[in-house]
Amino acid sequence: MLAWSRKREDVVGLKAPKKEKRVKKENRTQPPVEAPYVAPKPKLAVKSIPDKTVEIFDGMTLLELSKRTGAYISALQDILADLGEKVESEFDSISIDLAELIAMELGVNTRRMHTGVGTMEPRPAVVTVMGHVDHGKTSLLDALRQTSVAAKEAGGITQHIGAFVVEMPSGASITFLDTPGHAAFSAMRARGAAVTDIVVLVVAADDGVMPQTLEAMSHAKAANVPIVVAINKCDKSGADPERVRIQLGSEGLLLEDMGGDVQVIEISAVAKSGLDKLEEALFLQAEMMDLKARTDGPAQAFVVEARVDRGRGPLATAIVKSGTLVSGQHIVVGAEWGRIRSLRDTSGKITESAKPAMPIEIEGLRGLPMAGDDIVVVDSEERARMLSQGRKKKQEKDRLRKIDENMEDDIDTPEGTPERVEMPIIVKADVQGSVQAVTDALRSLNSAQVFVNVVHVGVGPISQHDIDLAQACGAYIVGFNIRSPPIAITQAATRANLKILQHKIIYHLLEEMGRLIVEKAPGTAETQISGEAEVLNIFELKGRSKSKGPDIKIAGCRITDGHFSKSGTMRLLRSGETVFEGPCASLKREKQDAETVDKGNDCGLVIQDCDDFQVGDVVQCLEQVIRKPKFISTQSGSVRIEC
Ligand code: GDP
Repeated sequence: MLAWSRKREDVVGLKAPKKEKRVKKENRTQPPVEAPYVAPKPKLAVKSIPDKTVEIFDGMTLLELSKRTGAYISALQDILADLGEKVESEFDSISIDLAELIAMELGVNTRRMHTGVGTMEPRPAVVTVMGHVDHGKTSLLDALRQTSVAAKEAGGITQHIGAFVVEMPSGASITFLDTPGHAAFSAMRARGAAVTDIVVLVVAADDGVMPQTLEAMSHAKAANVPIVVAINKCDKSGADPERVRIQLGSEGLLLEDMGGDVQVIEISAVAKSGLDKLEEALFLQAEMMDLKARTDGPAQAFVVEARVDRGRGPLATAIVKSGTLVSGQHIVVGAEWGRIRSLRDTSGKITESAKPAMPIEIEGLRGLPMAGDDIVVVDSEERARMLSQGRKKKQEKDRLRKIDENMEDDIDTPEGTPERVEMPIIVKADVQGSVQAVTDALRSLNSAQVFVNVVHVGVGPISQHDIDLAQACGAYIVGFNIRSPPIAITQAATRANLKILQHKIIYHLLEEMGRLIVEKAPGTAETQISGEAEVLNIFELKGRSKSKGPDIKIAGCRITDGHFSKSGTMRLLRSGETVFEGPCASLKREKQDAETVDKGNDCGLVIQDCDDFQVGDVVQCLEQVIRKPKFISTQSGSVRIEC
């Protein structure tokens, strides 16, 4: 299992020059403590896999890494040699990048601990807007964006890069994340990217607390992020902000007017009223949190949005957590890498560097990263390439291990459980954040009967390539928040008998997908009592010769409940005890053969090989039914398939 026990060439995989380098000695014994980075872990679909995560930091000794990973020093040295590096002694220190490369080869996850040394300076707060669908999140973000620095500087024209900055009269600023709602927020949190400092919870004054309001509250609570409530649509005649306050209070939110510390602001995103008060409230909340970050030294940042631009290639909007990101630096972003060709601020202006909480668009990446990916600065192109390759290889290993586990699970399934069918899906969405949120949400519909297999994801419209791929593997195509495909594509899909699901709201997509999953599920065979009858008379067909078969006893019955079917199995009960069970040999109603007889009717019944009827016996008709799974949606807005 351990990588170092394998052949060299398998271990390496990270094409490195074979030259040997001496590693600089650095004496640091304690790990620094700031903004830990949790390497993206694959979500576990069915059962937990033995994941090990170790903390790594710049300048740690080989001995330290050996202790944390549980691997022999000699094994670490072997991996280092394969990477073209050499360390003489176990007390020699290594860079954080080398530590990660070694750990990845060992199949161990890493959490990067970055240096806390440097000047700590106040930084702006990063805010995410959440709330129930149609409560006005987009309208609020649009209204706030119009007050943003970019809008003012560019005369109202802003480019949509997934974040914007609003400046207060005092000169302080607030950064708003403009990414797709709470699904992206939770997806990012799952990937360890804790970029949000404050959540604005939008609740419509005319609608009140709804399932996704509660879901947003629990997300914020789980991430330990404070909430500022914006009661929206206060301009409407049916607005009742007081009712919203009471509802929120009864859901456990400690509002300021009720003696708690959660601020509540009444606004109208459409009439643009109360926005300055909301900004002030956010600023006050940020002040209370005394947000600070290291501003000098190499940056640590997170991707909040990523897309491909035809002319400029992959673009990632990032928020710096600490340090300063500088144009020209080599960076590793999740499993991708690149050299920063340009950094642009929210007004689209080229900037040389970016400081904490400042959203910037990065150009120069080789591939498209994912929302929530971490960004680390490395010394050279070679190091960037190696880390990216190492991370890709580790992701692939984890993916294969997960598939193996799923297969093991299938083997473990008890007898009688139907075979699990696969539902391949291709996801296309407007931006990377949506791709991820939709993929995660679809995977939550995985069940013991249907394996939701997202086979391909991408940003942009549905293309001929997607149709070809879907045809090859019988996949459904999901388009989220994207334009309807051109007629040629729709026609190609129809010809190939492919289903395209276009949605703008995740919940609606999940509802439709849930229905399809239920349809596709094989279901479980269950025996059900379809009817009950009482034996009123017994008739005997006697005098039959041996050649014509034995004598037959016919039970004259009345159906007292449900219905009887000729295809059913009959169970004979006497004083509550089963005395015989067998298939129906004959079912007649008024001397005519019948397929079914309903409640209230009399019938003549023959049970194969049964001649033991007595008046007063009870007969039950048993039928095999296929029970399909159920699509369950809970009050909190979460969904699942119950088998
Ligand atoms: P989201 O789904 O939460 O992003 O909601 P939207 O921003 O798309 O808003 C949903 C609907 O509510 C739209 O028709 C908006 O015009 C309307 N809306 C949003 N804010 C307000 C408001 O403050 N007042 C009124 N009257 N309508 C609003």
